[in-house]
Amino acid sequence: MAKIQMKTPLVEMDGDEMTRVIWKLIKEKLILPFVDLKTEYYDLGLEYRNETNDQVTIDSAIATKKYGVAVKCATITPNAARMEEYNLKEMWKSPNATIRAMLDGTVFRAPIMVKGLVPYIPSWKKPITIARHAYGDIYKNAELRVPQGSRAEMVVTAPDGTETRTTVFDFKDSAGIVQGIHNVDSSIESFARACLSYGLDTHQDVWFATKDTISKTYDHHFKDIFAEIYEKEYADKFKAAGIEYFYTLIDDAVARVIRSEGGYIWACKNYDGDVMSDMVATAYGSLAMMTSVLVSPDGVYEYEAAHGTVQRHYYKYLKGEPTSTNSVATIFAWSGALRKRGELDKLPELVRFANLMEKATIDTIEDGVMTGDLYVSSQLENKVKVGTAEFLTVVANKLAVLL
Ligand code: NAP
Ligand code: MG
Repeated sequence: MAKIQMKTPLVEMDGDEMTRVIWKLIKEKLILPFVDLKTEYYDLGLEYRNETNDQVTIDSAIATKKYGVAVKCATITPNAARMEEYNLKEMWKSPNATIRAMLDGTVFRAPIMVKGLVPYIPSWKKPITIARHAYGDIYKNAELRVPQGSRAEMVVTAPDGTETRTTVFDFKDSAGIVQGIHNVDSSIESFARACLSYGLDTHQDVWFATKDTISKTYDHHFKDIFAEIYEKEYADKFKAAGIEYFYTLIDDAVARVIRSEGGYIWACKNYDGDVMSDMVATAYGSLAMMTSVLVSPDGVYEYEAAHGTVQRHYYKYLKGEPTSTNSVATIFAWSGALRKRGELDKLPELVRFANLMEKATIDTIEDGVMTGDLYVSSQLENKVKVGTAEFLTVVANKLAVLL
């Protein structure tokens, strides 16, 4: 069989530890035998980030803007222990944070569902995709302890020096605490566009919720921005696509999510997204089955697995012990990026390949062949546990047949 040809390169961001091992195996076993793979390669492994003073991360984000599609391996976010382990010059920032800031992107996380792995909420038949607004609110707050007898005020100084003030609270009877939070229209607008575009792109309804009944200026402003952008830029396209934008109060959204069968995008304010994405991920059963895609408002896509570098397994691997690390989310990062590249470049063969790569992966697990993390929770009867590389060999054989 002739290899599938590509037109434009993908931006390939290599990473760290066990996921770096898996990365190489996926390319060798699942992609290179079938696709004439074109990538522009950036090594975001911690050693090379340190060597380039993290310039490689910035370069990879610039390349992503240029080419429009990237696939990223999990990377180490340095902490004190990593400073020592890798003898780092500095505690480099999380590559994901750097890339997200440069692309002004929104992260969408969605579970991969397979037969045998039943969500804790059994009515969830389809994935729930969570989009978290990753700017502002309590994550960029100003806060103070307040001694008894003090009064806390909020002051806004206009460019001409005029002050607007409002009393937050008069702490006459007790000491306390006070917090100031903010958000900016440009960021909320980008978030709204990213969510609504992704709804169109993936053909799913978009839900958004805030506490606008209580927060009549702050949260209400989020609601208004979403409504305005939806009406002006998306309403016609949503109608044509047969999907809907739905706004409700956050309490109501939580209740509806639990009762729903999934299959929509849930756009969340920063804190809601932080908390709800952990809840939803856990409820679907496995972090190793969670995909993540960063989408910029101008339509640039970066695909990755939601999990980290699986350090504990890597140390076993280094000692030569057998490992059974789940590669599914990383496979889906590659298939997501290849499919998007195929769509943008009008290469139906590449789109078909990406779809079959996913089908081969899911079929393998539904046939009972799986890594240890799934083996312990799968309800299939004839299941076998396989090692990291062995799983990919079985998927590759299936893929060759499907192609
Ligand atoms: P992690 O790598 O996600 O792993 C946490 C635990 O979850 C593992 O020890 C393993 O449990 C299980 N697990 C996660 N992915 C798995 C997979 N694919 N197959 C099987 N089991 C899996 O999180 P972490 O240990 O907190 O972080 C390790 C490194 O990853 C850190 O340096 C962190 O900075 C980085 N990180 C990067 C990203 C990113 O690049 N997007 C995201 C998160 C964390 P058992 O050990 O019980 O088998
Ligand atoms: Mg969280």
